[in-house]
Amino acid sequence: MENIDQTVHGTGVVSGFAYAPAGWARPRPVLPPRLQERQVPEEQREAEVERFKGATAVVANRFTERASAATGVAAEVLGATASLAKDRGWLRAAQKLINQGSTAEAATEAATEQFVQMFQQVGGLMAERVTDLRDICDRTVAQLMGEPEPGVPQPTSPIVLMADDLAPADTAGLDPEFVRALVTRLGGPTSHTAIIARQLGIPCVVAVSELGKIPESTPVLVDGTLGTVTVGVAAEEGQRLVESDAARREAIRTWRGPAHTSDGAEVDLLANVQDGPAAVKASQSQAGGIGLFRTELCFLTAQTEPSLTEQAGIYAQVLGAFPGKKVVVRTLDAGSDKPVPFANHDEEENPALGVRGIRLEKSNPGLIMRQLDAIAAAAEDVGSQTTWVMAPMVATLDEARDFAAACRERDLKPGIMVEVPAVALLADQFLAEVDFFSIGTNDLTQYTMAADRMSSPLATLTDPWQPAVLRLIQQAGQAGQRTGKPVGVCGEAAADPLLACVLLGLGVTSLSMATTAIPAVGVQVGSVSMEQCRQAAEQVLACGSAAEAKAKAAELLTA
Ligand code: PEP
Ligand code: MG
Repeated sequence: MENIDQTVHGTGVVSGFAYAPAGWARPRPVLPPRLQERQVPEEQREAEVERFKGATAVVANRFTERASAATGVAAEVLGATASLAKDRGWLRAAQKLINQGSTAEAATEAATEQFVQMFQQVGGLMAERVTDLRDICDRTVAQLMGEPEPGVPQPTSPIVLMADDLAPADTAGLDPEFVRALVTRLGGPTSHTAIIARQLGIPCVVAVSELGKIPESTPVLVDGTLGTVTVGVAAEEGQRLVESDAARREAIRTWRGPAHTSDGAEVDLLANVQDGPAAVKASQSQAGGIGLFRTELCFLTAQTEPSLTEQAGIYAQVLGAFPGKKVVVRTLDAGSDKPVPFANHDEEENPALGVRGIRLEKSNPGLIMRQLDAIAAAAEDVGSQTTWVMAPMVATLDEARDFAAACRERDLKPGIMVEVPAVALLADQFLAEVDFFSIGTNDLTQYTMAADRMSSPLATLTDPWQPAVLRLIQQAGQAGQRTGKPVGVCGEAAADPLLACVLLGLGVTSLSMATTAIPAVGVQVGSVSMEQCRQAAEQVLACGSAAEAKAKAAELLTA
């Protein structure tokens, strides 16, 4: 690309290009104590009321203008917010306070609080207006203080929305027609911003520490694959990239499985699910089966251990959604970020490194064995010939051996997750004990890089493109090829279309991900040959950083 003046880097979480001016979400104004405490002299109060009226009129007019430029539901919402800014009761309450000596800023906040309480008491639809009223209050106070408009901008032409971070309330009404990409200074791949961007299907980059350098209204090119935001790209070049991206999106919309590389190698694309309804939904998608059923997510609020019959009922719903197809059930990964009340965890200083997953069988003897009984009963119920079962957080050969024996006693096909680096390092020995591997890149990355997977400041470390993580995946993949045993990936890495190709090149045989991610991976896999995947894997392994690895893969695997 030419004409680049400046690029800032973050973590790309939703692929694709967007080119539009930056539109910043500004923080709420904070009233300094002098404006809170000051008593306005009597002779100045009339002017203070006028200042207040002027500010509310500006805010109301902005909403009215936006409403007339918008259409459909967006126009209705904006129109309703404009009338809230002109609400006589609210205006009168604030004016009364100003006439008693409050500053316009303090009166705006106090009157708003009175109305918020009233709305909340009435409840229902009125309570739902609280967020809008607080928004009007913030905008009025910012106008009074001479600050830029706070909150998420309500654009009437395309923008790239930029913010320190976005809260659920900020993102509720975002319209992808106008908000073409999300970019935040904070946040990680699992932050709320990333989830919303995936839902809206727009490119997203998080953890861009230098984002503050980009001024309002500056045209930027967002590359959600490489995780970059570039200023100074020529408009024609930006449009060209966005248009070619639109073609990719159309291919994704119309993609039908099964997936295969351009030279015809079939690739198993499977779904990650958390319960029966999700499994049924996956069966209506292009998923070829289930690569990860996170059983612990069925029991996050269960105070007592569900009986064998109750558990078997739940598992049968999932197994029954894909008759005759591959379904991989994971035994309880309770503990750490997924506490399950009946699994009786002790308080731990460092739960990610504590008693979780298969380790629970020691502190809760029989817990996992009873679960295996229930899985076996469900398999029998639905007439499943082969049910794949895997244990999370395995770290030793003894754990793998004991688990495999318990599965085989019940006619279940035993496997383990590769989440602890110890397993990848001794991959051949572990594969001698079990029938398959499934690599959990979320935890494998966390434990390889010693970086909490939930930490935003460490988002560049918790990136599965880190060369050390890829090297461990290669060790597991090669062991699978030597023994002819399947090695899947079921962590978030499988949902990254470019990384998915690299994983295939590293010897991985199946990829499991959120159902919605399957078509994008299918399209990318279909555009490259297996040999290209192998070459990309080889070159990516020679890179010295995650950013370099990603850029190399993009160069080798995209046209
Ligand atoms: C993983 O660690 O990659 C994984 C799939 O397990 P979870 O995200 O449930 O810990
Ligand atoms: Mg895990």
